[in-house]
Amino acid sequence: MGLRRGGLQLGAPAQALGDLRVTPDPDKQWRIDNAFALKGVRLRFQPYVRWSETWSHDHCAACWAKFAEFNGPDVLHEGYATCEDYPRGARYEWVCPTCFADLKKDMQWTAAPT
Ligand SMILES: [Zn+2]
Repeated sequence: MGLRRGGLQLGAPAQALGDLRVTPDPDKQWRIDNAFALKGVRLRFQPYVRWSETWSHDHCAACWAKFAEFNGPDVLHEGYATCEDYPRGARYEWVCPTCFADLKKDMQWTAAPT
């Protein structure tokens, strides 16, 4: 056994390090990191409704796109929301259609019947 240092050699040329990257798409990784708590949940596509009267809007759990009932620049009006089986309840968390399509494999999301 003995001491083993990590696989990477210090001082290796940058080029060689580049070949070891495991994340092919950094644009996806940050969204996966944001939405990590939603891994494996069921999501149902539906028009956006506020979770409570006191909330004015929500954000996509992955990319932070805005959901609201009012109109505005870059405001989404439909998306994928958590279902009744989610611990915090239906429509507590929202995911925009773009993120659902891009990340469903990595996040093990399933679309619930509408
Ligand atoms: Zn999104």
